Amino acid sequence: MQVPKAQPDETLFSRIVRYISLSGLQKERCLNTLVGNRRAVIHPYLTADLDLISRFTNESANYLCREQTLRPLFSHFLPKYREIINDCSIGTNELVRACQLSTFREHEPLTLKYCPVCAEEDIYNVGVAYWHCSHQIPGVDACSEHGVWLIHQELHEREHFRSYLFPPTCDVKVQCSDLAWSFAQYAERKFRSIQDNAYLQFKPSGYKNHLSDKGFTTFTGRIKRIELMAALYSISEKILLPDNPLRITSAQDLKYMSSLIDGTYQVHPFKHLLLEFLLTQTQLSENPDEHVSTSRSKDDDVKELETRCCDLLLNGYSMAQVGRDIGKSRCYVKAVALRHHIPVNLKPYKITDSLKDKVSRLAYKGVHRSTIALQLGISSGSVEAIISSIEGLVEWRKKCKADSKRRRYQCQILRYFESHPKGIRKNAKEECEAAFFWLYLHNPEWLEQHLPVPQKTQHVDRVDWEKRDNELSKKVCSIIES
Ligand SMILES: [Zn+2]
Repeated sequence: MQVPKAQPDETLFSRIVRYISLSGLQKERCLNTLVGNRRAVIHPYLTADLDLISRFTNESANYLCREQTLRPLFSHFLPKYREIINDCSIGTNELVRACQLSTFREHEPLTLKYCPVCAEEDIYNVGVAYWHCSHQIPGVDACSEHGVWLIHQELHEREHFRSYLFPPTCDVKVQCSDLAWSFAQYAERKFRSIQDNAYLQFKPSGYKNHLSDKGFTTFTGRIKRIELMAALYSISEKILLPDNPLRITSAQDLKYMSSLIDGTYQVHPFKHLLLEFLLTQTQLSENPDEHVSTSRSKDDDVKELETRCCDLLLNGYSMAQVGRDIGKSRCYVKAVALRHHIPVNLKPYKITDSLKDKVSRLAYKGVHRSTIALQLGISSGSVEAIISSIEGLVEWRKKCKADSKRRRYQCQILRYFESHPKGIRKNAKEECEAAFFWLYLHNPEWLEQHLPVPQKTQHVDRVDWEKRDNELSKKVCSIIES
């Protein structure tokens, strides 16, 4: 059986998910057929074993590598490892190692990302929601086409992949920031240009010239680190979701930049995308004339279309009517309406403001996200997206979780001594091991106060042999004498 044909922008991973889902066979058997290993790991965007997999497709291994994985992106920004990364014969472990993912200071946990609007459109157009390559680019948190935040779907340790692992539909669509949208578009354009031009050279040394063009260097040619870092920090804040570990932790993190610019260290491709994006941004705002004329006229078209869309909506036409009029999908009309704050009939949305309030209220109370999801009839991915969109809520929930654990463990210790009034510390340590050690590490004062007084070590009177010898010797003497 062949692996199903690729849909536009579909990852190879996604095709393999469809392959095992359609085969109706066990995952292990399919993996064995595909790559000769029942327990092989299929990476969502650094898919390996391409020589083997390509036997089940009409494409060459090199084509799969270039078009359906993010390997071109990594090999571009990690020129030192280019050869290994582009080697279609290697397996997953070797590839992930070559991509340096574990050595970078910051990296995203592995998730599958999808755009809820794309998922709906894909179902409508091709009958299945699938995983898009451009959505998986690390550090891209928005859909370049629809301007909504992508939703991260967690993957279980090692088990990257199973039958019917498709993006869910009817999920929350949250409008992203304009900057996040532009960044997503930039990252996708960059990725496409790398794909199309395998010999595109990457030279971090070139950054210095660009930076000086943009006024980020002093007269003597030194980089204005503080200004540059502040600019990068502010972008990273706006384009990444609050819990994304790729976010820059502080505007004063000068180390972040030195490793990026001097090119002696390998850094995460996201950092290069971020810096290059910043350079294009200042270019646009400072020298609008330099902007390429062809894309300018395209921008104008886009703006015109948007204006017409807004006019029609404001005149009270329904979304379907407006969509027909301007020749765009309902999703496009919705996105425009949201961006311009035009109230539209959002009936198909499950996620209304009042629902968001409910989620936020439950989340503040510390209710588990899957319980909230079940109670309100939405997916836990939606709940997560709403929670992370509310400032401070994630931190609050972490605190609640820790507090609740502390209370539970304290209670466990207190109950133990209630039922064992004569128990000693050692018993508690053995009987309530987890509680004891957690409190010992996190709340030692409380533990000290509530444990019974440590037993005094019993004093054993030592025999003073010299004294006894003296006494006995007198007795022996008197016995002998008598
Ligand atoms: Zn989309």
